[in-house]
Amino acid sequence: MDRFAGKTALVTGSSRGIGRAIAVRLAGEGALVAVHSSGGGQAADDVVAAIEKDGGRAFAVQAELGVPGDVHELFLGLEQGLKERTGSVELDILVNNAGIMGGGVPVEETTPEQFDRLFAVNAKAPFFTIQRALRNLTDGGRVVNISSGLTHFANPEEIAYAMTKGAVEQLALHFAKYLAPRGITINSVAPGITRNGSPVFGVPEAVEQMARLSAFGRVGEPHDVADVVAFLASDDARWVTGAFLDATGGTLLG
Ligand code: NDP
Repeated sequence: MDRFAGKTALVTGSSRGIGRAIAVRLAGEGALVAVHSSGGGQAADDVVAAIEKDGGRAFAVQAELGVPGDVHELFLGLEQGLKERTGSVELDILVNNAGIMGGGVPVEETTPEQFDRLFAVNAKAPFFTIQRALRNLTDGGRVVNISSGLTHFANPEEIAYAMTKGAVEQLALHFAKYLAPRGITINSVAPGITRNGSPVFGVPEAVEQMARLSAFGRVGEPHDVADVVAFLASDDARWVTGAFLDATGGTLLG
């Protein structure tokens, strides 16, 4: 199935974890994918190589988000990569996935600097990425923002992080109305605990404990979330906008 044949996509933070799975999934269904990372490493190139090995099309874009000039840098690389491959800078699918966790810091120890950094990467960067993408997004385009189940599940050690994701969810609500006249949808996907490269997933007791939070008794896999994003990015989801999609494996059922 080539649902995304002829489409272009940017997936921020797709050098690993959930973003990588989203990039691979979209490319696997025919999209030309810009694989974004903060830069400096080989990881994004490895994702591009994996996609190409499977017959897909992708290119790497590096830009650190959450610093001055971040979005400008991101779009320099994006537009250059798109232009070289398609002759235009049109973007059909934008996935704001890049994000940082709070690191489980007790309320008393959260500093203003940590708070500002979380907001800069997780909330400010997606807003200005969407703002900048307005001129690239095609009519009928798709925006998907990765939130977190923590907007609906209390965790006192991640208050600042959860606040950033609350802000991300506001993007979908208000931009949905703004973008609808162009047939562009924008939605939030909220993963629960999802296996990424973090060392904690190598500790069986910790994984067992985390798995108990899901109604299905296991931790999420990156492709569990990527499949939901692919649905929202597809034509099948044309009637869904401004929505919050719970992709926590039933964690929010209580
Ligand atoms: P990972 O930590 O595995 O990967 C993060 C990705 O984002 C990497 O590609 C990284 O690139 C990029 N990134 C991080 N910070 C920056 C930055 N400042 N500038 C540019 N790129 C950056 O993340 P996950 O896959 O775990 O999470 C993906 C999204 O899902 C995040 O928004 C997260 O908040 C959310 N989420 C994750 C959950 C989980 O359990 N994994 C649960 C709920 C939500 P690089 O390595 O180059 O820095």
